[in-house]
Amino acid sequence: MSDPRDDRYYHAWMSSRVVSRRGLFRGLLSSAKLPAEENAVAADLLKRAVPRPPQAIAEPLFLQQCNGCGHCADACPVGLLSVESGKAVLSIDYAECDFCSACTQACDRGALAGNIPMDTCLRPVILPQCLGRMDDLCRMCEIACPHSAIFFNQQNQPSVDNQKCDGCGKCKLVCYHGDIQLSLKRNDP
Ligand code: SF4
Ligand code: SF4
Ligand code: SF4
Repeated sequence: MSDPRDDRYYHAWMSSRVVSRRGLFRGLLSSAKLPAEENAVAADLLKRAVPRPPQAIAEPLFLQQCNGCGHCADACPVGLLSVESGKAVLSIDYAECDFCSACTQACDRGALAGNIPMDTCLRPVILPQCLGRMDDLCRMCEIACPHSAIFFNQQNQPSVDNQKCDGCGKCKLVCYHGDIQLSLKRNDP
């Protein structure tokens, strides 16, 4: 059976509560506290196949509102945005996102919204070959993170606090060994 929910449903759901993507992550982490239907809607809202600009609205609405005009890409001072398949896409490869909000300000379609917390929904994955895992000589990512979201334990093993992290990408850029990848944080628990 097809999904009966349309954009009015999502608009109503969004306006009935304060929704932040970080809040949704927290909610999903404690999913037992939410009714099953709300969990399903929250998962829908977070489901992005590719990274979007940091203040993109919930994906089902974003796909409706973004017309691929490219104004956000033109506005980004470090060239992180492009238009693929008619929608804005974020790529953090050569520069981090400093959350300047130029993209949001350039969007006149409401696909990006200033009241959404800045978060690329990307999270670092520190690869097994990370040199810092061998000893304490490299802590570049830990030092670079503006939110202290990466930390190494006494056994030199790193971990990432997904609640503190906003997906800026600084850790990936600072790792000169290329041992950090960014992965889209979606609706995984
Ligand atoms: S917030 Fe600024 S740096 Fe980040 S994608 Fe938007 S325009 Fe680019
Ligand atoms: S400016 Fe807005 S509508 Fe245009 S491509 Fe960017 S997100 Fe989409
Ligand atoms: S993406 Fe940014 S906030 Fe997240 S761990 Fe890396 S440096 Fe810290």
